[in-house]
Amino acid sequence: MNSITPPPSNLFYQTRQRRPLLSEARGVYIWDVDGKRYLDGSSGAMVVNIGHGNERVLAAMREQMAKATFGYRLHFENEPAERLALLTAEKMPEGLNRVFFVSGGSEAVESAIKLARQWAVATGHGKRWKIISREPSYHGATLGALALTGYAPMTAPFAPMMRMMPKVPAPRAYLDRDNLSDEARGLKYAETLRDKIIEEGPESVLAFIMEPVGGASTGALVAPDSYYRRIAEICDEFGILLILDEVMTGAGRTGKFLAAEHWNLKPDIIALSKGFASGYVPLGAMVAHERVVEPVLAAGGFIHGYTYAGNPLACAAGLAVLQEIDHENLVRRAETTGAALKRELEGLMERFPVIGDVRGTGLLLAFELVADRQTMQPLPKEIEAHVHLVEEAYKRGLIIYSRRTRGGIEGDHFMICPPLIADETHIAEIVTTLEESLTALVSRFGL
Ligand code: PLP
Repeated sequence: MNSITPPPSNLFYQTRQRRPLLSEARGVYIWDVDGKRYLDGSSGAMVVNIGHGNERVLAAMREQMAKATFGYRLHFENEPAERLALLTAEKMPEGLNRVFFVSGGSEAVESAIKLARQWAVATGHGKRWKIISREPSYHGATLGALALTGYAPMTAPFAPMMRMMPKVPAPRAYLDRDNLSDEARGLKYAETLRDKIIEEGPESVLAFIMEPVGGASTGALVAPDSYYRRIAEICDEFGILLILDEVMTGAGRTGKFLAAEHWNLKPDIIALSKGFASGYVPLGAMVAHERVVEPVLAAGGFIHGYTYAGNPLACAAGLAVLQEIDHENLVRRAETTGAALKRELEGLMERFPVIGDVRGTGLLLAFELVADRQTMQPLPKEIEAHVHLVEEAYKRGLIIYSRRTRGGIEGDHFMICPPLIADETHIAEIVTTLEESLTALVSRFGL
């Protein structure tokens, strides 16, 4: 089997290039069928937090498989789901103790939308239905989650079929060339939410949703601290729900179990997936505060559900993943390894003027390539740096994740997010390969 010309296929994805066939994955590495090894520098799509092929998780899955792989939730409770819900709730801010399992991030966000709306109806706020989100952002592929997504290339074809939700700018303070302090910039962006609520009519606004640290949509965007504080105040002021999309940031990725903990945020609803089951099975969760869930249950129940919700095999895997995160102290490791990797990326920025910004926290890190660091002018679109740097790295056995977007202003950014188990050797391998790949890109395009 040749990895350059894979067999004909009936599958179709959006990647422009067929990829080699996957053979095995262990720890931070993946092998193709030709035996070529790749360091998974983006944990897939920021998914595999505990690393590939973890024996304890596989054993837990085997054990559950031998017992039962499916039991419909309306017919049977199951122990893995009960235990996973309990352990999940223990890791949440106080009061967020109601867990609703789903099969992925989009479903977690859809469930949050529906719960929020049902809460409004159940509590006599039936006029509230708008969920304000940010631009750029990504909240999922299904039409409800897409209506919250602030990324025109993904939403535009479906716009006539959706009721797009109001957007405020994501706090891209790193692009601002004003003289404001960080504190003032954070407040400036947070005030756009207040303005938008007033513009839309506060009585119609149900919730605000954000990725506390941006994912691929913004390239690991972190706002100034003042932003988070003010956002929480504004939500309180108007009695609107705060929904955190922690699909990518959750399960330790940012150096806390939830990114919310960095700013002591107390959301009403949280969406989890990706690292929550680390790719061992399709699994996600919507976790809600009891004050949101109770009125909905009292009014007759949550009108929503999926066939695979609370699947025993998926939950057994998820439980073993969370236990592994605790057992290996991976949240703390994300913090320390992330700080070391970020320093290395900043070192690359000193050597490569084409890197305009390094950002992120924990092991949710990214850098952005620019034509001019002073003005943050992006590279010309035609260069397609977001494609070529990924290819240079791929050739050298490193997987990274890229996007060309900044919402309105175009730019190339690259997510560097290895599994949380990555050690010093892996970090050194990532940095050396990135350096070689950047050198190749710079010399090819004369950057
Ligand atoms: N929300 C965020 C922040 C994401 O990053 C993603 C996926 O990238 C989703 C939601 C959607 O998750 P999924 O692709 O599992 O449906």
